[in-house]
Amino acid sequence: MIKTILLRTIIVGIVSFLFGCCLAYSTRALYFNWLYNLVLYSTLNTINYPPIRNATNFDPIINDIESHLPVNHPYRDNDRVTWVHEGSHGIASQLRNQFGKPGFYLLENRAIILDRELLTTIGEVAKLVPVSLRGEVYQLYLVQSRRWWEHEPSYIFDEFVAYTNGSEARRQLCISSRGETIRYMLEFIVYSTSVIRSDKNTNLQTRLFIMWQIERAIKIYKQSGMSSNYLIQLRISPDANEFRQYMREYFGAKWTKQMLGF
Ligand SMILES: [Zn+2]
Repeated sequence: MIKTILLRTIIVGIVSFLFGCCLAYSTRALYFNWLYNLVLYSTLNTINYPPIRNATNFDPIINDIESHLPVNHPYRDNDRVTWVHEGSHGIASQLRNQFGKPGFYLLENRAIILDRELLTTIGEVAKLVPVSLRGEVYQLYLVQSRRWWEHEPSYIFDEFVAYTNGSEARRQLCISSRGETIRYMLEFIVYSTSVIRSDKNTNLQTRLFIMWQIERAIKIYKQSGMSSNYLIQLRISPDANEFRQYMREYFGAKWTKQMLGF
């Protein structure tokens, strides 16, 4: 059985490679990037997290959130972006209670459970954020939040996912206001990377999860047509030199160039 799977994998690999070589030069790089990411994320262990009830009265992305929460949950909001953001926190809290570990809801019945809480504090994470990259929500999430979350730094990932799900809602529902949700999501690329950097012994699953999250955030950002001064600062700020070097070494130079442009 294992031999058959291995043989099949080798054959699919060779065929995919030969197919890529046959492509025109201009599309070849795109194809190999796509193939590389496909293989990379195929090892990301997301779990299937099915709905706990039927929800059909709202937009699909709101139904997605609603169907994963009990009927009388407190996360509803008149604003649909906020509804998805807060609902994502609600589901994350359920996952944490159910599995006893940090867990996050990634929409479309997908969730991820980390193997453990990260071994650092939000205070330590905050120190690693270059001064030029301490954005609009740095004070709220990296300073004030320490009163409640100091020893649960995965809270930063929770906000990254909630802002990304909220931004996805903004995209799917063609909402032109609420641009700040995209800006805040982009800040969490830096804050989440700082969590990993501070944790030191982050495993492959957590690294892949944050790479996957960054890629999802960048895709939504690009589709929004907005331009981010924060991302420009991330590319060029002199005080972020060491931070950029860390990202290149930790996530891979090719991937970092492709995602973030440095
Ligand atoms: Zn939040």
